[in-house]
Amino acid sequence: MSNSQPESEEGVVFSPIFCDENADLTIRSSDGVLFKVFSKNLSTFSTAFPSPEHIPPGRNEVIQLSESAAVLDLLFQFMRPQCQPDLHAISFKVGGALADAVQKYNVFPAGGVCNIYMSTAAPTFPIEVLKYSYKHSQPAVGDLAAPHTLGEDVQAIQHVFPSHGVLAWMLYREGWLTILHNIHNPYPDDGPHDTHPEDIGCDDWEHHRRSLLDRIGLRFESLVKLEDSFKEARSARTGCLDCRSMMRTWYFSLRKTINSLPKFSSFL
Ligand SMILES: [Zn+2]
Repeated sequence: MSNSQPESEEGVVFSPIFCDENADLTIRSSDGVLFKVFSKNLSTFSTAFPSPEHIPPGRNEVIQLSESAAVLDLLFQFMRPQCQPDLHAISFKVGGALADAVQKYNVFPAGGVCNIYMSTAAPTFPIEVLKYSYKHSQPAVGDLAAPHTLGEDVQAIQHVFPSHGVLAWMLYREGWLTILHNIHNPYPDDGPHDTHPEDIGCDDWEHHRRSLLDRIGLRFESLVKLEDSFKEARSARTGCLDCRSMMRTWYFSLRKTINSLPKFSSFL
C-alpha cells in the first residue's frame, strides 16, 4: 500500500502522491485531503469524470467526493499509468469502500481485482460482501458470501436487501436447513465391517458418528466448512479402517448434496 499520509501546505492538506501543480482537476476527500489529478487520466480509466475538453480553462473549482483519502489514494492509482496498487495489506474498511467506489465511478481497470478482493473477504465479512454484490450486480461474488450468512437472523438480512431479496435469501436457506435436519436422521448405520465381519456392531462407528453430529449440531457454518467438521471428528479417534472408510463415504455424499444446492443468485 502506498503512503497515504497527507502533507500540509499553508494549512491545506494535499495528498503526497497526487499533488502535481500542472494537474487540471482538484478533488477533495470526505476527510478534507486535496488530490490534484489529471482529468485525462481519470476520463481514460473511468466513465464518471470529465474529460479535459469539458473543463473550462482557469477553472479552480474543487470537486467534493464522499470517499475518504485512503480510498481515493488507491482509486486514483488505478487511474494512471503505473502498476496497480497492492491490496493485500489494506483493511476491509478501506478495501470494501474502494470496491464500492470502483463500481460507483466505473473504474474498469480495477473492477476485476476488487471483485477478487471482495470474494476473498466473503467468509469474514459476508453481510458486507453480499450487500456489495447486490448493489453492484455481481452475482458470482454474492454466491460466495451467501453460505456464510446462513446463521444470520432475518433482521440482519433486511439491512442488505429489499423485501424480494430477503425472500430469496429465505428460500435459499431452506435447502441448507433441510440438509441440516436430515443429517441427524439415523442413517448411516455401521454397515458391513470386512475386517471383523463377526461383529454385530462397531463401537468405533457410533463414536465417529456422534462425534461428527455433535460438531455439526444445528450450525450452518459446520456444513459450510464440512471438511473441517469431518477432520475434527476423525481426529478425536482413529478407530477401525472400515469406520474411516465409511466416514469418507459419508463426507462425499454430503458434499455432493451440498454442491447440488442452487446458488443464491438463482433465487433473485
Ligand atoms: Zn468400525
